Order: sequence, then C-alpha cells, then structure tokens
Amino acid sequence: MSDRSAQEIWEVALGELQVQVSKPNYRTWLEKTVGLSHQDNQFVIGVPNTFIAEYLSKNQRCLIEKTLIGLTHHDVDIVFQVNGREPSQPTNHSSQERVPATKQISSRRFNSKYTFDSFVVGSCNRLAHAAAREVAASPGHSYNPLFIYGGVGLGKTHLLQAIGQEAIASNLQVIYVSAERFTSEFITSLQERQTEEFNHKYRSVDLLLIDDIQFIAGKEQTQEIFFHTFNELHNSNRQIAVTSNSLPQTISSLENRLRSRLEWGLIVDIQPPAFETRLAILQAKAEREGANVASEVLEFLAQQIQQNIRELEGYLNRAIALARLTRALLTPELAAQALKNIADKESAWNSVTPDQVIAAVTDSFQLAPLDLKSRKRDKETALARQMAIYLIKQETNCSLTRIGQELGGRNHSTITHAYEKVADEINTNPYLQRKLSEIQQSLHHQPRKRNNKLP
Ligand code: ADP
Ligand code: MG
Repeated sequence: MSDRSAQEIWEVALGELQVQVSKPNYRTWLEKTVGLSHQDNQFVIGVPNTFIAEYLSKNQRCLIEKTLIGLTHHDVDIVFQVNGREPSQPTNHSSQERVPATKQISSRRFNSKYTFDSFVVGSCNRLAHAAAREVAASPGHSYNPLFIYGGVGLGKTHLLQAIGQEAIASNLQVIYVSAERFTSEFITSLQERQTEEFNHKYRSVDLLLIDDIQFIAGKEQTQEIFFHTFNELHNSNRQIAVTSNSLPQTISSLENRLRSRLEWGLIVDIQPPAFETRLAILQAKAEREGANVASEVLEFLAQQIQQNIRELEGYLNRAIALARLTRALLTPELAAQALKNIADKESAWNSVTPDQVIAAVTDSFQLAPLDLKSRKRDKETALARQMAIYLIKQETNCSLTRIGQELGGRNHSTITHAYEKVADEINTNPYLQRKLSEIQQSLHHQPRKRNNKLP
C-alpha cells in the first residue's frame, strides 16, 4: 500500500474508526481530520485545532495507531498537526486572520479521486459523462454552459472536478468552487473593498466550475455578480459548468435573466444508478482499496442502497473494516452486521437532544436548566450557556435558529457569537477543555441514563 497517498490510507482508516467509536465521538473528534503525509514510519494527521489534537493524542492514539498499522503493515508513529483553520463564516473573523479572497480561490484543491478514470458509466449518467468529457476536451466550444443536475450523492461533484482536473492537465486556468464558497468570498470582497480583485480572479479563467449553484437562489447581489461574470466569460468563449440539485426552472428565487442563461447550453441529468451500475461502482471501489470482496457481498450491498452512491461507498468501507477488525471472512451476513451497527449508532446519535445536552451542562456547572434559558448573565451562567450552545451544535443536527429557541429565544447572531467564542477559546483554555470533555463523557458514556432526565 506504500504507493497510496496519506489521504487515501486515512480515508480507509476513518472508515474503520467509524465502526469502532460512537457516532458523536466520530463527529466531534475524527470527522474533520485529513491524512497529510506518510513517510517512513511517520503518519501526519491534520486536525482542525489543538484541542482536538490533544484529545486524540491522549484518548485515541492507540486505536488510531492500531488501525494504521493494520492498513500499512508496518509500524506507525502518528503526529497530529493543526491545520490552518478555514473560517467557516468569513464575515465574523478578524481581518488579521482572514486570507485574502484571491488566495482562498487558488488554494481550492481538487479531490484526486474525482477523475474521469474512476467514474463508472451507466445508463443513469451516460449523457452527463459524455457531455463532461466533451467540455473538458474543448472548453468553450461545445456546450456552454454545461448544467448538470441530480440528487444527492450521485456524482455531480465528481464529474465537475473531473472536468477541472482534465483541463488543468492541459494547462488551462480553472476555478472550481462551490456556490456557497463563491458567495462567501464575494461577501468578504465587499467588506474588504476588494471586489475588483474578486472580479478579476473569476473573470480571467478559461473554465469556471461552480458546484451546487442552487445555493445562490435568493441571494440577490451574488446572483448579480455571477450574472456579470457569466456574461463576460461566455462572450469570450470561455467555459462555464455548474451543478445543481434541480433544473434551472425549478430553482426558486432565481432571477429570470440568470435562469435563462443557465438554460442556454446543455442541461443533463444524473439519475440514481441501476443495480448493475451500483455493482460496477462497488467492484471498482473494492479494487482501488485492494480488498478482495466476494461478488455475493457486493451484490448484497448493491441491493441494500439504491439512491446514494456516497452511502453505498461508505457501507462498503465499513463492511471491509468490520471484516478486518474481527478477522472474519467478509460474507453477506457480516456485511449486514456492519449495516446494522451503523443504523444502531445513528439512532443512538439521533437520540441526543438539546435538552439532554442542557441537562449535562447544567449538571456539570451545578445550575438548573432554566438558568440557561433565562436572562441571567452572571459569569458562570453565561459560560455554561455558551458551552451548551457549542455542544448542541456539535452533538445534534439542530440549526442555529433552533438552538436559539431551545435557549430561551435567543437570536441567531448571539448563538453564532457564543459558538465561535467557545470554538476559539477551546484551543487555549485548559479549564474549558476539561469541562467540555467531562460533559461529553457524561453524554456519551452513559447512554441509558441520558433518557431519564435528572430530577
Ligand atoms: P453529488 O455531488 O452528486 O452529491 P458526489 O460527486 O460527491 O455526489 O459523489 C458521491 C460519491 O460517489 C463520491 O465519492 C463519488 O466519487 C462517488 N461516485 C458517484 N458517482 C460515481 C460513478 N459513476 N462512478 C464512481 N464513483 C461515483
Ligand atoms: Mg456535490
């Protein structure tokens, strides 16, 4: 496996770790990690902040080492490295921390796995694939714009990035960006009076690839800037390709002039794959992983998951992981077991409610739940409230608005502020770190108790 990149190995390792730790645990500590490098015996794992680095180093080092040794077949010395943090909401960060818009754009990386070579073609995506290849081969001269739409996890991002990577190999200037990122960069450029730079960057490329364009619906200024960018590129025969979850005419709150431009070129869809295609995708994936999986197992998995290729791949990873861990032969029964484990963990995870988090937090601070919902602002209560906000965001699916409601009707910006404050301080404040681990332990290590609220 030595020829595989650190990231590839790490992804398989994450698949295994996912089977072994609880879902909240995985989400909090492992989900946002990346494999950075792998040389001799040293394996460098990128983590979002020092808090996570310390936690993993203290609590999960053995498990991670064991997993990596199992995959690389040699001794592994792991190093956690804190990544340059990516501001999730650039509007709220101090200018000192902010990366200039131009830099963010050029640092967008492609996923090396998302190439035409690794894309399995079936009747569900044949047209989209052919159009994407055509666009990559002669950008600006075939279908412009290319509009690819379809459901979640069906390969839209994969195809869009494949176009980009092929074009880059032909020395073309390419920007691949999600519509969300495009929007936030635009907002940053407005705030920093750098719109000229923003425009220059986006209007000087040979190919502009925007993922999930439906995101700009309802965002007037972003639509406006995209409209002008589109015109300028299109007028000079430069290529635009976008993906979306639906047809231009069904994206609501999209300006008409933009909608009509998106319909100028070719619109292609990707449908959920048929059984044979799902099987072919699984076969290709197993081969890439170097795992020898019996065809009856692949067939079993292909029957189980029909609508989402990302899930399909995830389940294969877990089934392989479970077989490796238990040193058992991967049979359809074992694969079923892997699926069941996940389903169980997901339901356990979903059962963590904001109320349970609030109870755990107030328990630890020796306050009453009502204190957090009240207007009380003494230091202790304020800190407990901020930690509750942080933890609810980490541990549940709740939106910020919903968290605000749970905590006595506080508004979105209060919640965002509190969340970011804790997220920031946790890197440097040992008291906060200890408190947080303590509360998380009480949430996750006593799953039974959680359901019976403390008196
Ligand atoms: P979407 O952007 O449509 O939500 P993605 O492009 O992120 O979906 O695809 C989800 C996962 O499924 C990715 O890992 C991708 O490589 C894989 N995938 C999707 N379609 C195919 C395909 N036809 N062949 C191989 N892998 C695929
Ligand atoms: Mg996508």
